[in-house]
Amino acid sequence: MGNIVAIDGPAGSGKSTVSRSLARELGFLYLDTGAMYRAAALAAQRRFGSRLPGEERLGAFCRSLDVHFLNETDPPRLFLGEEDVSTAIRTPQMDILSSNLSAIPEVRWAMVSLQRGIAASADLVAEGRDMGTVVFPRAQHKFFLTASPETRARRRWQERLDRGEDAVFETVLIELKRRDRQDENRPVAPLRPAQDATLIDTDGMEVDAVLEALLKIIKNY
Ligand code: C5P
Repeated sequence: MGNIVAIDGPAGSGKSTVSRSLARELGFLYLDTGAMYRAAALAAQRRFGSRLPGEERLGAFCRSLDVHFLNETDPPRLFLGEEDVSTAIRTPQMDILSSNLSAIPEVRWAMVSLQRGIAASADLVAEGRDMGTVVFPRAQHKFFLTASPETRARRRWQERLDRGEDAVFETVLIELKRRDRQDENRPVAPLRPAQDATLIDTDGMEVDAVLEALLKIIKNY
């Protein structure tokens, strides 16, 4: 396994933007594991509709998926087979469906094995919910980014408005809190900091300041 920087945290904690910039700075590959759960959710919804099969079958289905990134662009594009699904996975429906699906152990094992496979041949900045706790427990650096629910919902709301979507702040906040609860309370790989992770509260911090804080820790190591 190459060098790994593990970055975990809840939705809207700023981890995607920071992880991408950090990967660029370090010359590492950026791995967005949330996007992989979203791709699995999109594929499952297309294949099974709203009636998901049992865990075994769902696990086999997820293991059969061709989920891969094309890293020539920044941010990388995510493909399901031949199809670029980078935009299709960023909907409120996929927010919640990916969270539902990611609570299923068989689905997680399928994704974790893909993630470790990618780490076998590259140095990574890997972001998600369980990078430091489960997937890469021996990562050289572990960070856990947080911010208040209001700040995080505001960031998500702004992203939606920037994409030209109709979004109501209160709805974004309610959905974000619901997803937090679900991600924190699932029995398998719940969202929580690894014991040896550095916690960073990004409330009121610009991306550059967070990036600088991370780089300082990494370079002083
Ligand atoms: O990070 P993002 O919001 O795109 O992730 C979508 C969902 O995928 C999360 O709500 C979480 O339930 C799940 N996820 C996970 N483990 C990861 C990354 C994401 O369970 N490593």
